[in-house]
Amino acid sequence: MTTPKALVAGNWKMNGLKASAAEISKLNDLVSENGANCDVLICPPFTLISTLIQLEAQNVAIGAQDCHMNMNGAHTGDISAEMIKELGCNHIIVGHSERRADHGETSECVNAKAAAAQSVGAIAIICVGETIDEREAGKALEVVTSQVKASIPSDATAENTIIAYEPVWAIGTGKVPTAADVEEVHKAVRDVLTACFGSAGAEINILYGGSVKASNAYELMSVANVNGALVGGASLKADDFFGIISVYDQID
Ligand code: PEP
Repeated sequence: MTTPKALVAGNWKMNGLKASAAEISKLNDLVSENGANCDVLICPPFTLISTLIQLEAQNVAIGAQDCHMNMNGAHTGDISAEMIKELGCNHIIVGHSERRADHGETSECVNAKAAAAQSVGAIAIICVGETIDEREAGKALEVVTSQVKASIPSDATAENTIIAYEPVWAIGTGKVPTAADVEEVHKAVRDVLTACFGSAGAEINILYGGSVKASNAYELMSVANVNGALVGGASLKADDFFGIISVYDQID
């Protein structure tokens, strides 16, 4: 198999109305005009997926922020992986810390959601990360590696899985771990992936997420085993997000 390209993915969370389509068109134009040495993805709220896909912005893939673990049934307000795939999305984020916290999602639940995404041919972007209390207690590696082991389906490959390491305390706070801390966690995640999946585990992309912006992206994206970024706030504006994408012009 071919090694996947690095991925810079935007998570719009519960932000954006139809007018936000202009940002996707602008981002598409920026990539057309300047090129991108990585794949580019935006995960808007469910309500915008159809609108944004219909723009046919070829340089910007559109994904989803969550899916249900079942394909259909009595689950009021939920959306299945099959429904998302039918809209034309190939990526589904699962296990974001805001869903783990707000909706009580366990790693077992995240595993079932990731398996649902994979079963329809989508790529599951599985989020993991420690809280500040866990980091300060010296448990970051233990927490993150056990989340990865419990959240990743047993048939994971680089074609159907991406891991996003997002320290909870770095999300939306402007705080970022040191490059050395990021390297340590990503190496531990890589070791789990290769122990579980052999050579396939060596090819699975591991994104870093948590207060990534254009000014810190080069340092973070240059760390060993960092294969891209999952970006919240700085993905909402095309210019800010393109500033992150463009650091890949300087990274092999
Ligand atoms: C996120 O929510 O996945 C995230 C990383 O947010 P931010 O970039 O705003 O910290």
